[in-house]
Amino acid sequence: MENQYDVVVIGSGPGGYVAAIRASQLGYRVAIVEKYSTLGGTCTNVGCIPAKSLLDSSEHYHQAEVQFKAHGINTGGISLDFGQFIRRKGEVVAQNTAGLVYLMKKNKIQVYHGVGSFTDATHLKVTAADKTEAVLTSRYFIIATGSKPSTIPGVAIDKKRIITSTESLSLPEKPASMVIIGGGVIGVELASVYARIGTSVTIIEYTDNLIPTMDRELGKALQKSLRQLKINLLLGSKVQSAVNNGDTATVKFLDQQGAPQEIKADYCLVAVGRRAYTDGLNLQAAGIQTAKNGKITVNEKLQTNVPNIYAIGDVIDGPMLAHKAEEEGVFAAETIHGLHPHLNYALVPGVVYTWPEVAAVGATEEQLKAQNVEYKAGKFPYMASARARASMDTDGFVKVLVSPKYGEILGVHIIGPRAADVIAQSVLAIEQEMTAEEMIRSCYAHPTYAEALKDAYLIATGQGAINI
Ligand code: FAD
Ligand code: NAD
Repeated sequence: MENQYDVVVIGSGPGGYVAAIRASQLGYRVAIVEKYSTLGGTCTNVGCIPAKSLLDSSEHYHQAEVQFKAHGINTGGISLDFGQFIRRKGEVVAQNTAGLVYLMKKNKIQVYHGVGSFTDATHLKVTAADKTEAVLTSRYFIIATGSKPSTIPGVAIDKKRIITSTESLSLPEKPASMVIIGGGVIGVELASVYARIGTSVTIIEYTDNLIPTMDRELGKALQKSLRQLKINLLLGSKVQSAVNNGDTATVKFLDQQGAPQEIKADYCLVAVGRRAYTDGLNLQAAGIQTAKNGKITVNEKLQTNVPNIYAIGDVIDGPMLAHKAEEEGVFAAETIHGLHPHLNYALVPGVVYTWPEVAAVGATEEQLKAQNVEYKAGKFPYMASARARASMDTDGFVKVLVSPKYGEILGVHIIGPRAADVIAQSVLAIEQEMTAEEMIRSCYAHPTYAEALKDAYLIATGQGAINI
């Protein structure tokens, strides 16, 4: 009976711990295996949570510097205690990892700290840091081993001067300068953190826009906001190499005209995407197949080619997002139980925690055009929102994309204050197949940031906005 389980989950990130809790709720004997000493994976330890902590702290600092005066608040000058800035982030992470220890106990989930490695399709060897070993037997496994930062040719990450997001969240002192390779989500969030506290930040992005996978207008508007923070944006530029000079890093790249350029900074942060992480799992022993890009291949039930082994989160295809991993955790546990859960990948919202925040769900204008789908756009600027004027957050807009025939909501794209929270109603509306007319007929509290959506739907349906 000892070390015998119904479900063993490998990896304790948002995919893994949610899968373990759901499996336990459904009555299974569950274990979770985590190679690090703390639970929570990338998201809790070196991802979403610490990044948002530093984003919040840096935004407070920036507001105090640039906006307090307008509110009538005189501070008499402010300064940053960088050590405390980083320490508070550590405390937030510690609160969250401790919360997960509690949740595992509450749900009677056995936790093993060590590297999980298959010996066959029903056995997993767990090797702890002190080299002690345990062999777990299980009817089902759920692989949730996540992802690690990737890099590009010519750029070797040394974690000293050429760093990843992980190191950037725990720097020993405030950098005077930083060059960031990649203007995707990590690039723009961490550029915001450091630019707000006075670091001279340059982003070098390969494409001609920031956050290029989102609706093009969002990236364009974000460029304006980041330039206001004095972030130097080098778009359409191709990095060729990065070198550690000891106390600085030099990045060489081809600019928009194809001319060779170089830039020196205290740190070079590499943010060009992440790769699925399966090192040490010994997938071959269980006969589990991966795709060319290293991701574990699964069917529509999230089952690998070995029927009792499931895989979820960053280690499989799809957006590398914590809430996508969580949904898949529930999906895998419920599928094992014989239930028929539902997961709509088209409606996984994307959020970028810059200020203004960016959030979107559904199709972009570019996608609709490429698919020849007829749509009407309704766009409402936050400049015309009473709530936004009150908080001095007038940058940005909401844009809704609606089918002209039935008023079906095809996509919602927001850059504006608290967009991360405002997007929730749009996910629900599209999931429940509500029409633009139904969104207009619902009552929105006034004054709120969400109200902007009502005006956008009025515009998209040709009824004319109230507030503009
Ligand atoms: P992970 O969280 O990566 O967890 C995998 C776990 O498996 C790790 O703890 C690892 O140690 C463990 N593991 C790996 N191999 C083994 C093994 N053989 N044995 C035992 N354990 C093993 N997403 C959002 O949705 N919102 C955000 O705001 C956001 N911000 C981010 C900010 C940053 C800086 C980064 C880097 C990422 C961010 N993400 C965000 C992405 C998010 O962190 C990931 O999508 C999410 O963590 C994936 O969850 P997961 O459970 O698949 O894997
Ligand atoms: P990303 O895919 O979002 O962005 C990578 C960027 O690097 C792209 O814009 C790409 O064009 C650029 N790039 C690639 N090669 C380049 C080169 N040679 N020179 C210059 N630019 C180059 O990846 P990321 O920002 O590293 O984030 C990784 C993952 O983490 C993402 O999948 C994201 O979903 C997740 N994440 C999510 C959040 C959030 O939800 N708020 C926050 C951080 C990270």
